[in-house]
Amino acid sequence: MLIIKRIEDLNQYLNKVKKQGKTIGFVPTMGALHPGHISLIAKSKKMCGLTVCSIFVNPTQFNDPADFEKYPATLEADLLKLKAAKCDVVFVPSVLEMYPNGFKNTTAVDYGFLADTLEGEFRPGHFNGMSQVVEKLLRAVKPHLLFMGQKDYQQQLIVGLLIKKRRLKVKLVTCPTLREKDGLAMSSRNVRLGKRARKLAVEISKTLKQTIKELRKMKLGIQEIQTLGAQALQGVKGIEMEYFQIRNALTLKHPKSKNEKLVVLTAVKIDGVRLIDNMIVG
Ligand code: AMP
Repeated sequence: MLIIKRIEDLNQYLNKVKKQGKTIGFVPTMGALHPGHISLIAKSKKMCGLTVCSIFVNPTQFNDPADFEKYPATLEADLLKLKAAKCDVVFVPSVLEMYPNGFKNTTAVDYGFLADTLEGEFRPGHFNGMSQVVEKLLRAVKPHLLFMGQKDYQQQLIVGLLIKKRRLKVKLVTCPTLREKDGLAMSSRNVRLGKRARKLAVEISKTLKQTIKELRKMKLGIQEIQTLGAQALQGVKGIEMEYFQIRNALTLKHPKSKNEKLVVLTAVKIDGVRLIDNMIVG
């Protein structure tokens, strides 16, 4: 497994690989890797001739400096996991390498409502920073396929739009959310949950599942089903709900009819740890 720190070295190596006709798959991460991340590597390995994973904790996408400070950094362990998963290349740039001209985003893409709603409301500037770094990474790696998780539902919609607006030649592959046995979506932030918080966290996926069940039954209206779900989460002592919303799965707009493709999205805080999850009505 190659570990590369500079864009120039990455380009040099990947240009050679491309000349051999190999398909390049790319999995961007912020490290603190768990089996959810590794499932993206596995998918890329299945579909591509060479898999690149990046580890970069992007400062510009943290609206809360404390969250950035506390973000788990486990590079040694991450590299072992990637090696075990037979990842071909790990790109580990420094902040200076990614932002040689500072953090200002002078050519930000306007995502409109898609970035202003839900996470956008609670984490102002988050998607601007995320899209800034994803574009930089895509221009550095120039992959054929980009693998991202459904876990960050709004993020993958925005990256889809970034690819379209910037006319980048890459295909986005969105992969299913890997969960713990009790249903909790795997997340790098889960390690920060204490025993009590970890126990409470199961209520997130439980409520989402129940809501999906209600949406399939279609006996109640969407608004009513949403209120029931929100109340269920809000009723759990120790869970601080930020949002619990049923939205159109493509536009994230409030649905007008049950015939639309729907997604249920939520964000909560438990003991100061912010967790997000979602489920699609399939
Ligand atoms: P992160 O390191 O949190 O930025 O995540 C890197 C990529 O892994 C993103 O595309 C996430 O959506 C994806 N991811 C995070 N958690 C999971 C999970 N539980 N299952 C599948 N993919 C995930």
